[in-house]
Amino acid sequence: MKKTYLFALIASVLALVAECVYPTVFIKWIVPLYAVCAAVLAAAAFLLFYALFTAKASVKPAVKALIGAAAYLAVLMGVTPLVNNGIFGSVAPWGSVLVNSLMNLVFWLVMLRLIRNASGEPFKWKPLVCLILVLVGLPVTVLTTAPNIKATGFIVSDTVKNYEARIKTIDIYKNTMETAVPQTQVYDLIMDHLRSPLPAGKTEKKVLVLGWDGCRADAMCLAENRQAVDLLLNDGGSAYIAYCGGANYPAPLRQVTATIEGWTTMFTGMWGDGHGITGFDNVNTAQTHTFFTTAIEEGLIDSSAFCFSWSGHLTTYGKEMEYDRANGVNAAWLYSDGEEGGDGDEGTFRKALAELQKTDCPDLLFTIFEYCDYYGHTYGFWGETPEYVRAFRLSNEKSVSLIEAVKARPTYETEDWLILITSDHGGYVRGHGGDTLMERMMFIVTNKEW
Ligand SMILES: [Zn+2]
Repeated sequence: MKKTYLFALIASVLALVAECVYPTVFIKWIVPLYAVCAAVLAAAAFLLFYALFTAKASVKPAVKALIGAAAYLAVLMGVTPLVNNGIFGSVAPWGSVLVNSLMNLVFWLVMLRLIRNASGEPFKWKPLVCLILVLVGLPVTVLTTAPNIKATGFIVSDTVKNYEARIKTIDIYKNTMETAVPQTQVYDLIMDHLRSPLPAGKTEKKVLVLGWDGCRADAMCLAENRQAVDLLLNDGGSAYIAYCGGANYPAPLRQVTATIEGWTTMFTGMWGDGHGITGFDNVNTAQTHTFFTTAIEEGLIDSSAFCFSWSGHLTTYGKEMEYDRANGVNAAWLYSDGEEGGDGDEGTFRKALAELQKTDCPDLLFTIFEYCDYYGHTYGFWGETPEYVRAFRLSNEKSVSLIEAVKARPTYETEDWLILITSDHGGYVRGHGGDTLMERMMFIVTNKEW
């Protein structure tokens, strides 16, 4: 019987150590350590099952314990995300930690109780020690999560009610979230501009789009950091709240609130059911060409350029890039991987600036900065994190420089420029793709009224 207690004790200590490390490695997503934690928890579960089956004098206790440990791991990996999604919505790492820790606690208490019953001996101090160890596991879990308390803060403070209140404080939007315009409007605005007759004194149509990937609509309340937006508005422009995902909140999503889906919708004027990309798994199926190609083929523009640093675009538009090369379409796909110095966004900025400084710059120049998306995924999507504010400021600064580069063109007076700032989706906690209001709302700002 002593062996039974020893196994239970070792199992509890192992589990306790894993439970202490697990919250941090999960939230920071340190994959190798996360794998170690899962393995240690599975080993501890094996020992507990082994102790139980030995106490019961079962035949082949090791085999049964192995099956038990496998079932435990399956529940841990499978049920936790399900419960987490049900409670917290699309992405909430801290929620996973909480659900997981509680499930583990219940599992350990039940197992120790079963072992004690099976052993048929009066209660001894060793199981008590095990129980205490497990019980302190939970507070330790909470303590180790404390450095990530910000994530908890998002769930508590980043509610729909607070989001709505924040949006109401922003005075630049001409509409409300209820009357949000579809993301496809970006395509329509650009095509309408290119198709409309040239105003008096102008000889050429031009378009510059400044895409702020993952920038939430409520980030505009950081008014001291949105000079690029104000520049456009001061030129007589408009700002509208828009929605991605194919349908406005709270109607069910028709496509995920993600990068490929969002930008492709703006590039084609169609939702996923039209352009063929509705989820994370069908990246390569896009057969529809974007306006980088079609606007040239229709004779609306002579040239286009797309400056980006996210390699996902290379995959999504790979076939179109091949098509353009094979058919001599004057569309430049300018990818920056960050290796030429600075980060990818720095490369995007330099490439876009170089294009704008050319005498014959592309008629349609589309630029995407990843700052907000990158910092959002790393630190959280919301302006209460200094990193997200920094990302917003960087997107703004680069955009101001590009707008100034447009205005500094020697031929600026004879060119009819449509300049647009927009984003592909919002974000919630540290992710996007789901159907929360924070993920679904984005914005469209132009230098022209509409
Ligand atoms: Zn994105």
